[in-house]
Amino acid sequence: MARLTKNPGEFLIETHLHTLEGSACGRATGAEQARARKAEGYDAIIVTDHFFRGNSRPSRDLPWAGYVDAFCQGYENARAEGARIGLRVFFGWEENYGGAEFLIYGLDKTFLLTHPEMISWTPEEQYRAVSAAGGLVIQAHPFRERPYLKGIHLYPHDCDGVEGVNRAQPWEQNRRALNYARSFCLPVTAGSDIHTADSLLGGMAFARQLNSIRDFIDAVRNREPARLLTGPESGKNGLQVPLLDVQ
Ligand SMILES: [Zn+2]
Ligand SMILES: [Zn+2]
Repeated sequence: MARLTKNPGEFLIETHLHTLEGSACGRATGAEQARARKAEGYDAIIVTDHFFRGNSRPSRDLPWAGYVDAFCQGYENARAEGARIGLRVFFGWEENYGGAEFLIYGLDKTFLLTHPEMISWTPEEQYRAVSAAGGLVIQAHPFRERPYLKGIHLYPHDCDGVEGVNRAQPWEQNRRALNYARSFCLPVTAGSDIHTADSLLGGMAFARQLNSIRDFIDAVRNREPARLLTGPESGKNGLQVPLLDVQ
């Protein structure tokens, strides 16, 4: 198992992770994900399975409460395993708007259960509702290109920040995302978008402990100093937040 490089005092968090239980494209269970990330040296992970309009695993024919229950299984299994092995596990999700995807942090299962109308939100409505409830909206991999994606859709006014580094995308697309975030003065996050128990080693290294998803949100909003885990493709051992030099 590959291991992360950790500088003294750093807190390593994976911000973008999928499970088999919640995501149709997930290849490792929540428990397997927790064990793999712990072995790599992460202090915390945020489970962000594909929600209803994305590549979600549970049947959309289930009653809403049943769908939400099934959707949360990956997170709940990861959290139980994390409690056993000493890994913090936080909850989030990823929703899809015609190819543009958003990571939602800081809300919980109760929010999902009480907002069945969310499956017909626009990005603007999502931002308004999530913000009102105290959550954070991050546009995931905004410059991702795939044969099935028609165009690149940016929502700088309907999010709190941008996923500047996504380890599942080519560096060129991350470089564009980082420059985009910088041009709109938006905070950035970094994550692996990992779907398997293999290693991508993405995420963020903060200079302090994050004890809750609320701490993570505050750190991102306040642009606390952090290292974005980029790997060798950026030509650097990570990029520093606030963003100073994106080549
Ligand atoms: Zn996926
Ligand atoms: Zn994802």
